[in-house]
Amino acid sequence: MTLRPRPGVLDVTPYVGGESEIAERDRVVRLASNENPLGASPAAAAGYAALKDELHRYPDGAARELRAAIARLEGLDAARIVCGAGSDELIALLVRAYAGPGDEVLHSAHGFLMYRLSAMAAGATPVAVPERELTADVDALIERLSERTRLVFLANPNNPTGTKVDAAGLDRLAAALPPQALLVIDAAYAEYVREAGHDGGIGLVRARDNVVMTRTFSKIYGLAALRLGWAYAPEHVIDVLNRVRGPFNVTGPALACGEAAVRDRDYVEHCAVTNEVWRDWLAKELREAGFPVTPSHANFLLVETGARTGEADDWLKRRGLIARRVDAYGLPGHLRITVGDENACRAVAEAMREFGAHP
Ligand code: PMP
Repeated sequence: MTLRPRPGVLDVTPYVGGESEIAERDRVVRLASNENPLGASPAAAAGYAALKDELHRYPDGAARELRAAIARLEGLDAARIVCGAGSDELIALLVRAYAGPGDEVLHSAHGFLMYRLSAMAAGATPVAVPERELTADVDALIERLSERTRLVFLANPNNPTGTKVDAAGLDRLAAALPPQALLVIDAAYAEYVREAGHDGGIGLVRARDNVVMTRTFSKIYGLAALRLGWAYAPEHVIDVLNRVRGPFNVTGPALACGEAAVRDRDYVEHCAVTNEVWRDWLAKELREAGFPVTPSHANFLLVETGARTGEADDWLKRRGLIARRVDAYGLPGHLRITVGDENACRAVAEAMREFGAHP
């Protein structure tokens, strides 16, 4: 007998985050991790500074005040919210709690990578379901449901495509689930969606007992460094998550800053509006430069660069611009570019125009 981890663990290829440095360059523009280019709300940053004398204290393991603040904002029941160290932790906990060897975890073909990696780490079988026009295909997902399905993950909008499924599609998927399965709507980019009535999946969680929604503070709230996310779920799922999470899984600074960030609605709206303006501007510029762009609801663009993808990536890097290759998502002919601030968008547009003009 030799010491080995559980089956599946050694099949996991560790997740590689977006690059953040370029050799021999001091100043770079980081457009590889979908971070908020405007930073965190000043109120959240002040909350962080105020905690410097409290570092010896354990945080509130129940995250009461943060959950209450989120509940007030979204009109939710605080008892049906659980917080995590980023939504990554909540995804991993859901998989660990509900799926194991012999179970299937469904995700769309170009869905966020952590669904697959978390399933493998739990010894479960990830199942990639084909998409249609770089968008999750609800019919294909329904077709693939079986008695082995335990979880269906759907990022909405999805990373790295930026596309989303409409509310009717989500409804249909949830209604088709077998009794032992749970639908997880990963709404990490929900705040960027500018469609009236888009609720990230809250209505569906409220209406059913087999749907969970996860959210993050890493994107529009600009708090990626703190690792903070939350889930809204039926009581029976909340009970499970509270059993499997660590007792102090969210840090004190994350709780304090998250609460301040949630309250600063003007800042969130400012970030959403700014993102929309520059996202749409950059998409148009890139298309005019000859590169097809998938219409995006999020804070990044999926840009088709075809056989020249490596060359385009290097071209941007030589100008200090770090984009993201998405080969690991089955999209080798594309770059994913975060919508940066105005200067960053102008720099990307100019670089790609020059690149397009020099085949
Ligand atoms: N879901 C999606 C769709 C994402 O793109 C990301 C971040 N890249 C996450 C979840 C995880 O975010 P975090 O752990 O920072 O909350």
